[in-house]
Amino acid sequence: MKREVKSTCCYCGVGCGVLIATENGAITGVRGDPDHPANRGRLCSKGATLAQTGDLTYRLQHPERRRQGRQSRAARLERGARRSGRTFRRDDPRPRSGLGRLYISGQLMTEDYYVFNKLAKGLIGTNNVDTNSRLCMSSAVAGYKQTLGADAPPCSYEDILHAQVIFIAGANPAVAHPIIFRSIEDARAANPDLKIIVADPRRSEAQKLPISIWRSGRVPTSLCSTACSTC
Ligand code: SF4
Repeated sequence: MKREVKSTCCYCGVGCGVLIATENGAITGVRGDPDHPANRGRLCSKGATLAQTGDLTYRLQHPERRRQGRQSRAARLERGARRSGRTFRRDDPRPRSGLGRLYISGQLMTEDYYVFNKLAKGLIGTNNVDTNSRLCMSSAVAGYKQTLGADAPPCSYEDILHAQVIFIAGANPAVAHPIIFRSIEDARAANPDLKIIVADPRRSEAQKLPISIWRSGRVPTSLCSTACSTC
């Protein structure tokens, strides 16, 4: 039986709406949801290829090591655990001192964080474990609080189309958040007087738009403008 269900792209904080086509319980395609306010039917290359991630044929599901030949899953798990242990002992400057540290992804699920914390605190013996979920946004939160008084991006996507000035600080939405950048391009096309200010020490694709003002210089800290989860 064919079905199409609404969902949200899982990759980044833009939150594009997707329509997932299924047939007999298997995903057969993904397309942008034309009614979703975040993307109005558009998807970037990551979202457009989401359907391929539903095919587990090529996904790593068990411990594997190149050129290890045929081994049982238990043997592969054992070898992987031993090798990881050797690497930890070799690279930790003071083994068992509690100084080992883990910096883990911001893309994990709650259960994954639980397992990594158990690994760090229960087995490796360190409480130095943190994630990109916290550290990625810390500078942005401080900046938002100081300048805007709230630790959240203050506008909605609708505002982009009504803006008279758009300020892009330390971000390259043309690459990192292409669907937002398409909205900025739409806003500029609808309003040629729209001013776009980019503050970035690098030259980036964001400046391919006819930018009204360009400031280059040394920026001492990072600034992330959306909760992207793509770092
Ligand atoms: S911008 Fe791309 S990765 Fe981010 S939510 Fe939209 S389709 Fe997904």
